[in-house]
Amino acid sequence: MSLAELQALERDYAIPTYARNPVEFVRGSGCRLWDADGNEYLDLLAGISVLNVGHCHPRVVEAVQRQTEQLMHATNLYYTAPALRLSAALAQSSLGGKVFLCNSGAEANEAAIKLVRRARPGGRIVVVEGGFHGRTYGALSATPQESKQAPFAPLVPGFVVVPKRPEALAGAVDESTAAVLLEPIQGETGIHVLSDELLEAARAACDRVGAALVFDEIQTGMGRTGTLWAYEQAPVVPDALTSAKALGGGLPVGALVTGPRLADVFEPGDHGSTFAGGPVTASAALVALELCSDPGLLSRVQSLGARLLSGLRSLPFTDVARGRGLMLAIDLKPGTPAPELARRALLEQRLVVNATGPGTIRFEPPLIISEAEIDEALERLARLAP
Ligand code: PLP
Repeated sequence: MSLAELQALERDYAIPTYARNPVEFVRGSGCRLWDADGNEYLDLLAGISVLNVGHCHPRVVEAVQRQTEQLMHATNLYYTAPALRLSAALAQSSLGGKVFLCNSGAEANEAAIKLVRRARPGGRIVVVEGGFHGRTYGALSATPQESKQAPFAPLVPGFVVVPKRPEALAGAVDESTAAVLLEPIQGETGIHVLSDELLEAARAACDRVGAALVFDEIQTGMGRTGTLWAYEQAPVVPDALTSAKALGGGLPVGALVTGPRLADVFEPGDHGSTFAGGPVTASAALVALELCSDPGLLSRVQSLGARLLSGLRSLPFTDVARGRGLMLAIDLKPGTPAPELARRALLEQRLVVNATGPGTIRFEPPLIISEAEIDEALERLARLAP
């Protein structure tokens, strides 16, 4: 089927929620993708921080194949080993409490929102401007972006938005607050690292009133910033975190992970999801989590990130480069529209990158990228200079 035929199918049958680029990908391996004409691309986006272990990692593929031949679904009315082994691995790798598995980032945040309200009935949830937590109603209500929220009002009540100032955050938290929910590094709005002072203020305010501090690690987790979880580089530890994206190694898996204090808030019947913790996706996630926990990989993410960041900084169209580990972005000098540059990168240089806004391009390559591939990407990017 040609690209034109696919575009006709999209036009006639796909509800138009995506602005797609005119490329059909048919194969992926490591940091490379191939289109239907056999052209090879270097992937600096990893499916928006999903393919942290690379495309079609052989161990993920093998785990999926093995499990698919054995048992694909049983429902959570019965025991299956992959889900419970994954829950244990997640809890042991982070906050030491308990885990609710689900199928996406938005669902993980929905679970977190319900959990903190269950712990403090009717409680308000404080979120930070510039945050993104997903598109379902609870997650959308926690996402203070006018363009995403306004067409879908009324939203879920009880969310309070604060600017990125420690005193503003502290002032918004009181005895009626169930939680502060934030991304330690805001991804969708352009890779903005929240300051240590803001995170400390959030921790102190939550401690003062007995509210829960929840980190959305859906984009920052799974080794993306050079530690398995971004909170490991923060001055504070959250009471719960949410994960998804790279957790499934390319398959849809999400998780709410609690610390001990929130571990037993939910009771049977409070929450659930048919496909959550299915044996195939959980088997993939077990492998992905093991691969992303490798100390050698994590220290490489830090050195590779530094190499990419310094190269991005010296590109002729870069105004500001920022980020942590392999979660990076550049703001472009005035006059260069980011969506156009991202499109040229794709079509002229066969580089997959993403514009997060009119002036910002984000770089989140697979964590297994090599020095040579980073240098190759930088050379190709430099060729886009006007
Ligand atoms: N939270 C963060 C920080 C995200 O980056 C995303 C997705 O981009 C989500 C939540 C929503 O995840 P999903 O698209 O899997 O629902």
